[in-house]
Amino acid sequence: MARSLCKWKKKDIEKGVHELAHIVDKPRFICKDCARAAHAKGFLCKAVKLPLN
Ligand SMILES: [Zn+2]
Repeated sequence: MARSLCKWKKKDIEKGVHELAHIVDKPRFICKDCARAAHAKGFLCKAVKLPLN
């Protein structure tokens, strides 16, 4: 279920917009390959922790 956001296609984004809203809420990690953000590193291909608090 924890499919990397980096692999999402346009169709996935359109269909999964509610799931996406949850995944990107209060992001704690970013992907250093594609600059996506997520609250858990499992959603990103090259996750790095955001330097927040
Ligand atoms: Zn990525």
